[in-house]
Amino acid sequence: MKVLLILYDAGSHAKDEPKLLGCTENELGIRDWLESQGHTLVTTSSKDGADSVLDKEIVDADVVITTPFHPGYINKERIDKAKKLKICITAGVGSDHVDLDAANARDIAVLEVTGSNVQSVAEHVVMTMLVLVRNFVPAHEQIISGGWDVAAVAKDSYDLEGKVIGTVGGGRIGQRVLKRCKPFDPMEMLYYDYQPMPADVEKEIGCRRVESLEEMLSLCDVVTINCPLHASTKGLFNKELISHMKNGAWLVNTARGAICVTEDIVEALESGKMRGYGGDVWFPQPAPKDHPWRTMRNKYGGGNAMTPHISGTSIDAQGRYAEGTKKILEVFFSGKQDYRPQDIICINGHYGTKAYGDDKEHKEHQLK
Ligand code: NAD
Repeated sequence: MKVLLILYDAGSHAKDEPKLLGCTENELGIRDWLESQGHTLVTTSSKDGADSVLDKEIVDADVVITTPFHPGYINKERIDKAKKLKICITAGVGSDHVDLDAANARDIAVLEVTGSNVQSVAEHVVMTMLVLVRNFVPAHEQIISGGWDVAAVAKDSYDLEGKVIGTVGGGRIGQRVLKRCKPFDPMEMLYYDYQPMPADVEKEIGCRRVESLEEMLSLCDVVTINCPLHASTKGLFNKELISHMKNGAWLVNTARGAICVTEDIVEALESGKMRGYGGDVWFPQPAPKDHPWRTMRNKYGGGNAMTPHISGTSIDAQGRYAEGTKKILEVFFSGKQDYRPQDIICINGHYGTKAYGDDKEHKEHQLK
């Protein structure tokens, strides 16, 4: 079988750290294993534009593997020309880079390594909340540039203690974020999700489900987005929804860039509606050099805690998603299809998860 692997180039960093598995040089550590079984592996970082290696090689690929960090966008056009494609594997979590409806229509399976980096992302979310709320970035910039002006930073610096924290999406990451926030003694922790957490989990975390997203936003000082990107979350955080947020709230998004409307976030930050925005996800990726989220700031010159897409790709996470990818491949090659149920996004023309939408049409296409 032919396996097409799309990853970022790491250059000398790949040699510095051989455990940096998610790059074209280290290939998730699967080349020798695949070749020893007679399979062919084509690895590339070239994924955009009609002349990309991805476009050329997908034509006769049986398997496509990519990561959300340097996603090969497997849209309908590419699926249409990939006549032999049987499975798309996400080395990580979040498979929105595949047109899932088009995959289902062609009976292409979509699998991901569920849970492989949820702890990594949750840590990044809590870090970003603190970075924003405590106004860390301008303070650090001051030190690097030789300055010392306590008041300039202190006038926009707060405590997480006593704040209301809410997550959009109460799944694996959402739950872990709230668990990690608990020791900071927030006033209250809320979540919005059409799938309620089990009662014992809600109790253990000490959080409350709010049925309306607008209502939750009106109560929160800090909001974190932890739901997948799908038809009803694309552009969800637009000017209208943001208007329901508390004035001066902070927003952390490590879910997907396209859940937020780029210019509406910039406007909210610059107008003071939002005190800060941070996260690691962009659309498209890599982010263009002139993407406004790189440079946007609030009126005090802070409020930006953006990084490249790194939260779910710590060295620890890379080990877990490389291992998980190999396990998915093993099951695929065995022909048994007995995947870990939680890894299945699409199979046999149906959605194997309830996390990618709650609309009627989507429900009709879920596995019963
Ligand atoms: P999960 O499936 O465990 O939880 C997602 C939850 O979101 C589910 O409970 C689902 O019901 C809920 N949801 C879906 N649509 C919603 C909506 N419109 N409003 C409210 N809730 C909604 O997934 P997870 O492991 O927690 O990951 C969540 C997402 O985080 C992934 O899909 C991915 O996009 C993103 N992620 C990012 C990184 C990163 O490196 N930045 C890494 C891993 C995952």
